[in-house]
Amino acid sequence: MNVLVINAGSSSLKYQLINMVDQQVLCKGQVERIGIEGSFLKQKGGAEEADIHAEIKNHNDAIQMVLEALTDAKHGVVKSLEEIDAVGHRVLHGGEKFADPVLVDEQVIHDLEAIADLGPLHMPANISGIKACQQAMPVPQVAVFDTGFHQTMPPKAYLYGLPYEAYEKHKVRRYGFHGTSHLFVSQRAAELRGTEKGRMITCHLGNGSSLCAILDGKCMDTSMGLTPLEGVVMGTRSGDMDPAIVKFIMEKEHKTIEEMDHYLNKESGVYGLSGVSSDFRDLAKAAAEGHRRAILALDVFIYRIQKYIGAYAAALGGVDTLVFTAGIGENDHELRQNVCRDMDFFGIAIDEEKNASLPRGSEADISAPGARVHTMVIPTDEEYMIARDTYEIVHEASQ
Ligand code: AMP
Repeated sequence: MNVLVINAGSSSLKYQLINMVDQQVLCKGQVERIGIEGSFLKQKGGAEEADIHAEIKNHNDAIQMVLEALTDAKHGVVKSLEEIDAVGHRVLHGGEKFADPVLVDEQVIHDLEAIADLGPLHMPANISGIKACQQAMPVPQVAVFDTGFHQTMPPKAYLYGLPYEAYEKHKVRRYGFHGTSHLFVSQRAAELRGTEKGRMITCHLGNGSSLCAILDGKCMDTSMGLTPLEGVVMGTRSGDMDPAIVKFIMEKEHKTIEEMDHYLNKESGVYGLSGVSSDFRDLAKAAAEGHRRAILALDVFIYRIQKYIGAYAAALGGVDTLVFTAGIGENDHELRQNVCRDMDFFGIAIDEEKNASLPRGSEADISAPGARVHTMVIPTDEEYMIARDTYEIVHEASQ
């Protein structure tokens, strides 16, 4: 069974075709600049790589191009669309309605449209992607939600200190994101440790970063909130701050609401702090050359992660397993070392040599001998997780 995994953003669309029998990724690709001048599709996996530049007006066009590329004689990996058995869609927001992946029907589309304002940048693209695939292929479509894993949080963790009507009327609460990733790495860590029981903190550190407190496999708290802006300082996002700053800066800098939104989402984080870059490779290089603000930005990032680890250790009544994943968590050994520095009072201590020599993309327990907490690096695989969920739902539905 071949599952096409679609991750539709506002102006991009990433995809993978995965054979679920042997779990082989047949091809990976992306469409960029949808609806913007200079759009293109790139795909790897076929006899030749595809790099096609053409006008791509909307997500319908993008899906059409993807399907053509997948079946193309030179670039393609299947002979016809009949070799694609199901499509799994990454959907940003499931609101309170969707905790688990779901087979898409008319009602699901309707429900997604009703909660689209919870993710104004992503949800319209996610819904367009699903509709375009429905039109192009008569195969089951499954929606997998970034918020789903976090639906087990108790009210004390998901409610904000706002008038209760904000929750009742507008569903303002913590939802959390990166759920597919937190679920994948927590299950993999549990598998490697041989038990699902225990207190685990997962750190998804990438362009967007979030931490998750997990008890016996269930999410108890997570750092992102109503939107992916809350939590630790990120590449270009502010993370947690005093909400009064919004009015203060808007008045001082004469900003509109849209400009302020851009300021917090795109101009802040380690990018805004350092003035160098949102990419941690650039930051590390600048910091090594003595760039004062790059050093400061990294310090803030590390400190915020440590504070969340402390908070979640308190929330869970201790910690047994700490997991690092995503672009930074998997690849930046110095960052992992700095986060774990001086944390031995928690039982967190890593083997610095093992940490530093870990090959890219590998999973490992990097704890120091005798450390009470198992500190692990586990590469995330959100696409595989979406494909697996899709496969299971379609398989169940066909029984
Ligand atoms: P992701 O969002 O998970 O794709 O992570 C992307 C981020 O990972 C990039 O912005 C980089 O900052 C970071 N990253 C990737 N590779 C490395 C590396 N070798 N060292 C440090 N940071 C890295």
